Order: sequence, then structure tokens, then C-alpha cells
Amino acid sequence: MVNIDYKTDRIRLEMESGEVKQKLVDILHMGLKWLSIEYPAYSGITITDIYRTNDEQDQIYLNHIDSDIVKKYTNKPWQSVHQDHRGMDIRTKDMPKGMADRLTDIFNMITYDHRRPWIKTAKNHDVSKNQNAGHIHIQVVAV
Ligand SMILES: [Zn+2]
Repeated sequence: MVNIDYKTDRIRLEMESGEVKQKLVDILHMGLKWLSIEYPAYSGITITDIYRTNDEQDQIYLNHIDSDIVKKYTNKPWQSVHQDHRGMDIRTKDMPKGMADRLTDIFNMITYDHRRPWIKTAKNHDVSKNQNAGHIHIQVVAV
């Protein structure tokens, strides 16, 4: 199995707290199983974000690369799945070419919400202004 590393001790503790939704953990492990078969030489993934406070949510969207999103968020802030322990981010800058997109496709074999099939389980993106925080965001619907 591919190793799991954590960007910070705080994130490791969040993972160990039992607060993270089990379906999200299962989806992560499904992806890791696939990675260990398809990329056996890859040392391990790094989880860069799990839980997010309201202040942290504000900081991300008020510094978003897309100024329309900053404007929208300023007018009417929204909650993140990260504030509800049902979102997780995986670093992509250390992945070999093509791996992040393929892993995103694997995660997206899981339906996020049968009532809203257009919403995806996983997204490979970078919303930071300096474009150095690329990650695969995975999420599960609230039950
Ligand atoms: Zn995320």
C-alpha cells in the first residue's frame, strides 16, 4: 500500500480523530490501492488539508486566483465541505506526469450525490494566487 504523509501534525491528528467521514476515508484507500498497483514506485501521497475553520475558509476565498470568486465570496461567503470533515486535499506537485489526472478519474468512479450527478467526487485543481498549491480535492455528500 502507498504511504500516507501529512503536511502538518495537525492534519495527521485530524485524520486520527475519527471525525473524518468514513466514506471519504474509504474513497482515499480505494485510490491508494489503485496507486500501489499502477505506480508501485511512488513513495507516498501527502494530505495537505482536511479540517478547515471559518477563518481559514475566508483566507482561501479572499485570496482566490479568480477575482470573480473573491467578489462573490465577499458578498455572500459559503461553507466548505472541509468545515464538515467531508473534504480532503492531496498534494499533486510531487506526482509523476499524468498521475494526478488518472487518480482523479479513479476517485470519480464514485458518485458524489445520486440526486446531483453533475457534482464530482474529485477535482484536480489549484486555486492559489501563486499557483503552487495544486491538489486533488475529494469530497463526500452530507448524509
Ligand atoms: Zn479541498
